[in-house]
Amino acid sequence: QQGELKKFIGCATVTADGVHKELFANIGKPDDANQANDKDAEGIGLFRTEFLFMDSPTVPTEDQQFDAYKKTALIMKGKPVIIRTLDIGGDKDVPCLGMEKEDNPFMGFRAIRYCLAREDVYRTQLRALLRASAFGDIRIMVPLVTCVDEIRQVKALVKRYMEEFDREGVEYNPDIQVGVMMETPAAALVADLLAAEADFFSIGTNDLTGYTMAADRGNDRVRYLYNTYNPAVLRSIRNIIECGNAAGIMVGMCGEAAADPLLIPLWIAFGLGEFSVSATSVLATRKEIFGWTVEDAKELADRVMAMSTASEVYEALQAAHDARI
Ligand code: PEP
Ligand code: MG
Repeated sequence: QQGELKKFIGCATVTADGVHKELFANIGKPDDANQANDKDAEGIGLFRTEFLFMDSPTVPTEDQQFDAYKKTALIMKGKPVIIRTLDIGGDKDVPCLGMEKEDNPFMGFRAIRYCLAREDVYRTQLRALLRASAFGDIRIMVPLVTCVDEIRQVKALVKRYMEEFDREGVEYNPDIQVGVMMETPAAALVADLLAAEADFFSIGTNDLTGYTMAADRGNDRVRYLYNTYNPAVLRSIRNIIECGNAAGIMVGMCGEAAADPLLIPLWIAFGLGEFSVSATSVLATRKEIFGWTVEDAKELADRVMAMSTASEVYEALQAAHDARI
């Protein structure tokens, strides 16, 4: 199958009727960018920076982080590199930060909440990202946003560190984009407000599905609810895309659902602009996108969005997919 997919290397990512989509890859380490390039990804849509912290006995310094981000930017040779700032807590433990155990870590002190409270840690990362932005198209992405205050605070910090660099004579990209990871129901409900503040959106369907359905995918008893085919999750995603498009910002998706061949026509119908998937899924995703016209995808989406249950949605999407091969 990989052999058959090879013919999609070097092709543009377009729908069957020629609408261009961005097709990026998710990575966890700078070296992974080489695989992304091998699979012809057009950029990095999610660099999960926790791995830099998880693998280290001490908190990585600004210089160590700068080296990692710069290396990634150089490997990608000017293509977009969306770097997510530290997303710890929940399922991601980072020993070197010595976080306290919480009764409910998914609802707790994690991701942007932690970073805004620990400005010493966040400053190191944001300064490293800004310095690396002089070497490529680095973009900053903020995880687990729930309200406008958080993105405003991040933007204020970015501005403050730019001023520090102006005084120090250090180069950075003054137009660096700051985007929001859309992965909480709160963010989805105020997507219009967030779209007015953010430079781009990227939908984190892994967390968005869990939080919307209030179901932990690691819990066997409730796993049946953890399902992106649920109408609640699909409506949420549609709203995020519509609000982002109405504001004229890029809307991408970097959760697992971006690579789900059954769901890709829905994302096309909703107007998703960027897909970020694991390197091994890049070519298969390009092939799926190429298989749909926007009109056909919309006809399918109209039918599916009128359905009431996840299993009806799944069956309709499966049937539509089977009819094409
Ligand atoms: C997501 O939540 O969809 C996502 C891409 O982030 P992570 O899986 O790292 O939480
Ligand atoms: Mg997430």
